[in-house]
Amino acid sequence: MKHRQIKKKVELAMAICMIMAAFVLARQGAVYVLSEKADDTEICIVVDAGHGGSDPGKVGVNDALEKDINLSVALKLKTLLEQRNIRVVLTRDSDTSLAPAGANNQKAADMQNRCQLITETEPVFTISIHQNSYTTPDIRGAQVFYYGQSKKGEELATILQKNLVSRLDPENRRTAKANESYYLLKKTPTPTVIVECGFLSNPEEAELLLDADYQNKLSRAIYMGILEYLEQEGLL
Ligand SMILES: [Zn+2]
Repeated sequence: MKHRQIKKKVELAMAICMIMAAFVLARQGAVYVLSEKADDTEICIVVDAGHGGSDPGKVGVNDALEKDINLSVALKLKTLLEQRNIRVVLTRDSDTSLAPAGANNQKAADMQNRCQLITETEPVFTISIHQNSYTTPDIRGAQVFYYGQSKKGEELATILQKNLVSRLDPENRRTAKANESYYLLKKTPTPTVIVECGFLSNPEEAELLLDADYQNKLSRAIYMGILEYLEQEGLL
């Protein structure tokens, strides 16, 4: 009888052990599920390489095409951000338009699809990469634009501008500038800034913008600005 009682106790203890093990496993499962969910809420940034396909954007005094420089800088920026485990969604990763082949107004369809992609992605913000041009060759320097009614857009643009000046071109006297009419700034529900990296109408800057080392420096300046903004927002 006594022996049978002991056996029952052992069985009970084993059952408790198994329940506890199952509980631990279930908890581990729950932790795993939670960490997967956390991936969904990780920092996500859209990097938009302006123009592409049949739309070259600005054409440099050295025949450099804006669309090519935009894509190159966007890809470099993506690599840097992904090294910090920041998720990057590109609007394009090759020389292509976002407009469907048969669209009547290619430019309008392209812009609408960029906006739709950004709206669906719900990024923390979007960085749109462009190159500038002017009627006289003396004008130069990177400049960041933000939507005038977006406080976060203004903060991000100001930080990016500061990093572009200090890390790329300390002579640059440009400041971040509000804009109320750019389609992408107006039509995206999350903050968007446009980085005009330099002027393709300035011979010296046009050459620099084609140079891989300069593009690396440029991408790093934008990247450091992004990190500074994310830290300020308490996201990093
Ligand atoms: Zn452009």
